[in-house]
Parts: sequence; structure tokens; C-alpha cells
Amino acid sequence: SDLQTYTPYSTETLPSYLMGFAAITERLGGAPASWKVKEVGDGNLNLVFIVDGPSSSIIVKQALPYVRLVGDSWPLPLYRAFFEYHALKRQAERDPGAVPELYHFDEVQALIVMEFIEPHSILRHKMINGEMVAGLADFLGKFCARTAFRGSELSMKSADKKADVGLFSGNVEIPAITEALVFTDPYFDAEMNHHTPELDPVVAKLRSDTVLKAQAQRMLMKFASNTETMVHGDLHSGSIMSTDTESRVIDPEFVQYAPMGFDIGMMTANFLMAYFSQPGHRGEDLERYQEWILSVITDCFASFEAEFKHLWQTERTGMLYPKTLFEDQQQSSEAACEGVLKDIWDDALGICGIEMHRRTLSLAHNADFETIENTAVRAALEARNLMMGAELVLNRDTIPNATGLVAMAQDFN
Ligand code: ADP
Ligand code: MG
Ligand code: MG
Ligand code: MG
Repeated sequence: SDLQTYTPYSTETLPSYLMGFAAITERLGGAPASWKVKEVGDGNLNLVFIVDGPSSSIIVKQALPYVRLVGDSWPLPLYRAFFEYHALKRQAERDPGAVPELYHFDEVQALIVMEFIEPHSILRHKMINGEMVAGLADFLGKFCARTAFRGSELSMKSADKKADVGLFSGNVEIPAITEALVFTDPYFDAEMNHHTPELDPVVAKLRSDTVLKAQAQRMLMKFASNTETMVHGDLHSGSIMSTDTESRVIDPEFVQYAPMGFDIGMMTANFLMAYFSQPGHRGEDLERYQEWILSVITDCFASFEAEFKHLWQTERTGMLYPKTLFEDQQQSSEAACEGVLKDIWDDALGICGIEMHRRTLSLAHNADFETIENTAVRAALEARNLMMGAELVLNRDTIPNATGLVAMAQDFN
């Protein structure tokens, strides 16, 4: 009702809220008193509940008005749930089956009820444990290509795309986190930063490099001003859930319009960090598992490119690179497509390098490194990651393709 006000729910109070919605009670089955509620949020920002009923289970995700990782000293607007909901809707249209199905959205409560993805677990944990996931690269390459292409004016009607850019431009505070934490804070002694103490000399070197800082800011300028497509915005291995053969994507609250290479670039950085951290986690299977991670990177880009080219041929109905200029003149648009892919590759590598820096120097680190308790061991591995990140930001134009990228990772390893 109009009198409703935002209330963060608890495992005790959630059932009485959910029982007001017939679609949810039918889905869960049984009486509300029989529902079992667990809070499972392990992320940095939100409440996440699993509700188990006799018939099925659901996920309830509710935004908190502050950053969970830091506390109520850092307020964060509830409206991000609205953008997460709209992002999930669009991703479901653009890559059917890739994201959790939506059951219910409550704007006042900043609350989304969605499909419980099971028996999947978070990919980052699987990678720390040395588990392989069949079909991972194919799924992720296609997800990135489909969302990039179908959310752009290569495909969308300009009026629709521009209206959507307007809608999502309201998601201000969340990209502001990316703008500061990802692109800027790693490169100076920002208040919330931390890093493994043994890294001091490497960190000092990075922060004294004005060319590196200028390149990172150039990427930030693109990120903040370039509205090529709707990106997930937080596509790290903690936003991917997998079984041994099947994967899904969750948590797009960092959605915004940004360069098409953003998601695949951030994701690649997280795979490279998984790669560099492996000596801290593996025994005799180290080499085999590291090779698998590198194959995921090359296969992701191969899958991305193949899908992007396919969509270029079959769904290029937007304002950009129109068929009137190419095919209708009996001229090929293949070279034009390669040019677009080259720009995506360049942006992806830039983002990749910056993400490698921020996850070791800024506020929110990755469990891949953080769970290595011996700081001397951890710092040595993080240093490889930092140095390769700098190489990507500074000299990405010298890396021709994904094979070159993984060869570089092997050189730094
Ligand atoms: P945050 O935005 O706070 O990072 P996430 O959306 O990443 O929250 O969710 C936190 C955790 O909750 C995930 O790591 C995952 O374990 C679990 N989770 C979230 N959504 C789902 C889902 N649809 N199905 C199963 N588990 C989920
Ligand atoms: Mg998350
Ligand atoms: Mg999480
Ligand atoms: Mg999130």
C-alpha cells in the first residue's frame, strides 16, 4: 500500500511478507510456518535469503541502505534493486536461461524474489578448490556477446536504446563505486585501500607511473561516457554460479551503459587472478589446473567472437553499420566487424589490467588471493598479477589475440 515503508527483513519476518503474494505461496507450497528461511548473503552489499517450502525453494534478495562490507557509515541508495531487476529482465531476453528467473519485485522494499539456482555453487570457490566446469567458456563467451550485441545500436532501435540509457543513468551511486574503487583508488593511497605489506615496493612503483595512471583515467573516461551497450558491470567469478557442467550469471546491480568490452575484460581479469593464485592452493595438479584456466580464457574469447560475428550477420538491424552501406551494395561488412571486435578487445584488455590492480590494492579483494594465509607466498603471486596488469594497461596494443594474452600470463607466472 501507499503507507508501506522500507523494512529490512529477517529470517523471522520474511515469511509474513511473502505470504501476501499468491504466486509466491503457491510456488513454495505448504503453510508459511513450514517455510525454512536462511540468510546466505556472502556479498559485499545485500541481504540474500533462501526460502525452502515443501514444493520448491526461492531466493529473496533485498538491498540494504548502506554497504554491508563497511557498515552504515557508507550509505548506498536502495534504488539499486530497481536497476538490478531491470537488468535481469533484459539479460533474460538477450540470453535466455542465463540469469535467474524473476518471480516478484517490490520497489519500496528494494526486494527481488527469484529462482534459486541449484545445485550450483559460486565459480570462485570452485576455482579455489581446483574444480573444472565443462562448457564454462562457451556459456560465458556467448553471454557476453549476446548481451553486448543485443543491448547496442547494432541491434536495438535507437529510440529504445536511448530511452534505456536514460533509465539506467539513474543508477548513479553504484557506478560511482566502480569509478572510484576500480579505476582510481588503486593508483593512490586511498583511505579504504589495503594490500599485502610485502607488496610495498611494487605498489610504490605502480603509483609513481603517471603514464599508467593516465591510461587508467582514459579507460575511466570511456567507462563513464561511452554508452555502447548495457553491461552487467560486476561480472567476476563471484557473480557466476556453476555445477560441473552448467553455469548461470547472477547479481547485475552494477548495471550501466558502458563499452562492449567491459564485462569480458573484468571476467578475464578474475580468471587471470585465479590462475596466478593457484600455487597457493594446488599440489601436484597445479599445472593441469592452471592450463585449464588459460583454456577457459582463450575459449571465452573464441566463443565471444564467433557469437558476435553470428549476430552481426543475422541480427544487425540497428542504426549502426547498416546493411544499406554494405550488403545492399554487394559489399562485405566482415572487415568492419573485425574493426568493432578489435576495439572491444582493446577495451577489454584495458579493463582487465585495471581490475587486476584494484582487486589487490583497493577495498574489495578476491578470495583467490586472500585465502592464502602466508603473506610472503601471497605477495609473490599478487606481484605477478600486478605487473601483468600494468603491462595490459600500458601495452595492450601489442597483444594481438587471446593466445598472446595467455602466453603473457605464462611469462609472468
Ligand atoms: P551481493 O550483491 O550482495 O554480492 P549476490 O547477488 O552476489 O549479492 O548474492 C550473494 C550470494 O547469495 C551469492 O554469492 C550466492 O551464494 C547467493 N545467491 C544469490 N542469488 C542467488 C540465486 N538466484 N540462486 C542461488 N544462490 C544465490
Ligand atoms: Mg555478488
Ligand atoms: Mg557474492
Ligand atoms: Mg552485488
